[in-house]
Amino acid sequence: MAAALTTDVLIVGGGVAGLWLNARLRQAGFATVLVENASLGGGQTLKSQGIIHGGTKYALHGALTGASEAIAAMPGRWREALAGRGELDLAGVRLLSEAHYLWSPGTLAGNLSSFFASKAVRGRVDAVKGEHLPPALQHPRFKGKVYRLAELVVDVPSLVARLAELAGDSLLAAEHLEPLLDGGQLAGLRADGVEIRAQRVVLSAGAGTAELLASLGVQQPAMQRRPLHMVLAKGAALKPLYAHCLGGGPKPRITVTTHPAAGGQWVWYLGGDIAEADGVARSPEQQIAAARHEVEQLLPWLDTSALAWASLRVDRAEPAQSGLVRPDNAFLHEQGALLVGWPTKLALAPDFADRVLANLAEAGITPGAHAPLPALPRPALGQTPWEQLLP
Ligand code: FAD
Repeated sequence: MAAALTTDVLIVGGGVAGLWLNARLRQAGFATVLVENASLGGGQTLKSQGIIHGGTKYALHGALTGASEAIAAMPGRWREALAGRGELDLAGVRLLSEAHYLWSPGTLAGNLSSFFASKAVRGRVDAVKGEHLPPALQHPRFKGKVYRLAELVVDVPSLVARLAELAGDSLLAAEHLEPLLDGGQLAGLRADGVEIRAQRVVLSAGAGTAELLASLGVQQPAMQRRPLHMVLAKGAALKPLYAHCLGGGPKPRITVTTHPAAGGQWVWYLGGDIAEADGVARSPEQQIAAARHEVEQLLPWLDTSALAWASLRVDRAEPAQSGLVRPDNAFLHEQGALLVGWPTKLALAPDFADRVLANLAEAGITPGAHAPLPALPRPALGQTPWEQLLP
């Protein structure tokens, strides 16, 4: 491999943020190199539930804020891209569900009436019954109410594979990064000894960004990690379910998504409140027992005896927020030639790319002339937690 390369934008981190941005930049005519030190999507991206939120669930907290209205555009943008006529051609990416559901198992009328009183929710939510219920809830013993949200659920492995295809020859597997300085200014990075000069360096390395910033001697922006303890179940008894199940509080008691596993079985991936504070404090055995109890309470007709279970600890990486308020839009910070950010949600990857493109336009950065890239060592695609944890 050449000892020195030049490009327009050097991206660090091949999760959804870096890969989506890379594809948008290439489409806009920019030369790019994306460096990944482990596997594509193998950080948070392939551990996500794949829900393309439109912000409706935030209305459970009360009114949607202005910032969370920004997320309302995301399902539409993804839908266009998945149909092959949007900002990226994602036509081959598998859509797991056209809708995500809001499921109220009991008598939570009070909670739901304030939810439906919110102006932002009207027109975005429809009640469903009978054969329109999610397959897992179509049972004579099912009680409760279900509402359809205009939010999609995507198959993240096929998304990562498609974004890697759109990356062409720009992906580089490299473990060791060092800053490349010209007169004290950041001019690029040295990746496993190869000098890569770029007009801009974008750090989109998820939880790895804090360490990268420290290695560059940069203090801002600060990052926070939000620990989660997710649960997985797999077995022939499971049918598709994509839903936030409401409890008494403002957060979904449990959020269920369903994913295809090799061998044709479905995997339920359980997050929501159960995966947060109390769930994080539990041991894996306790957490699996708690999730199993929840599932048995909520779907008493489901035979759980032959299900395989696992739990997964994973941190969400986000910009530091006072009071751990959850951000509702992608975050980007500029410092000279360095751009640093977190999409904060898979759904917000398009917003993250918009912010970088706007920043380049504002700085007057346009595609330059560069020698074609040599063949670079390519990072592998990451694996899902169910491939890793469930037999
Ligand atoms: P990551 O996917 O973490 O990617 C960062 C990449 O950078 C990794 O591949 C990593 O290996 C690489 N890297 C790190 N350090 C270095 C380095 N030094 N050099 C080179 N490369 C490096 N969002 C939604 O919208 N909907 C959901 O349903 C949803 N569910 C979630 C469920 C869970 C359990 C979790 C944890 C998150 C969920 N999210 C969801 C959030 C979403 O997954 C993340 O916001 C998003 O995937 C972040 O993407 P990213 O590219 O910034 O980070």
